[in-house]
Amino acid sequence: MFKRLTALLLLLCLTAGAALCIAEAADPGETARKVVYLTFDDGPKADTPELVALLEELDVKATFFFVGLAARAFPENAKLVYDAGHKIGCHSHSHSPTLIKEDNGFVGRDIDRFMAEIRSCVGEEFTTDIYRFPGGSTSYRKRIKRAVQEKGLTCFDWNSLSGDTHPGVTAQDIYESAIKTGADEDVIIVLMHEQKARTRQILPDLVAYYRERGYEFRTLSADPEEREILARCPAKIIYPEDEEL
Ligand SMILES: [Zn+2]
Repeated sequence: MFKRLTALLLLLCLTAGAALCIAEAADPGETARKVVYLTFDDGPKADTPELVALLEELDVKATFFFVGLAARAFPENAKLVYDAGHKIGCHSHSHSPTLIKEDNGFVGRDIDRFMAEIRSCVGEEFTTDIYRFPGGSTSYRKRIKRAVQEKGLTCFDWNSLSGDTHPGVTAQDIYESAIKTGADEDVIIVLMHEQKARTRQILPDLVAYYRERGYEFRTLSADPEEREILARCPAKIIYPEDEEL
C-alpha cells in the first residue's frame, strides 16, 4: 500500500514536472513577441492634431521625436501629443547636424534647451530617456555620441524606412517602402515624419498590415521590458552604458 502511494506520488510529481516543462515551452515569452514602434520625427507641426486624432482612431500609441524649436512654434500641439499619452523623445533643439557635429559641448547644451522648451510646453514634470540624432546616428563622431550617453539618453535609429521626406513620393511608395525595409523582422522601428498628409494616408493600411500579422504597437524607451524586446531589433540603438559605439 505504502509502495503504491509512493509510486503514485512519484507519478504525480513527474506529471506536474512535465506539465511545467510543457507550460514553459508553450510560453511564447519575449522571443515570439512581434512589435512595431511607429516614430514621427521633426514635429510638432501645424497639422499635428490630425495625426493625433488618427492615431486615436487606430488605437495606437506612437513615439514623437520632437524638435525643441518646432515645439516653440506649436506649443499647444506639443501638449496635445503629451496629453494623448504618446511618447516624446528628443530630436535635438536646433535640428542642426552641423552645429551638433562641430562642437563637442554643443549637443549637451542643445539637449538642455530641448528639455526646457518641452517643459514650458507640456509641464515641468516632463522628462525623456530617448534621443534620435537629426539624420540618424551614423554620421556623428563617437565623442558626440558619448555626450548624449552622458545625458542618460538612449539613441534610436530605425530599421524600417518610409522614405516620406523624399520629394515626389506617393502614398503607395511610402507604404511599400515601410513594409519592404522592415520585412522579416519581428521588432520594427518605423521612421516617419510629421506634416506629411501622404504619411497619414497610409497609416490605417500600415497598422492593419502589422495587426493582421500579429504585431503589437508600443512606444520606445530604455525600460527593462522594452530593452528585452529591442534586443531582437536590428536598428542601431545606443544605451547610456554601451562601450561600443
Ligand atoms: Zn529630423
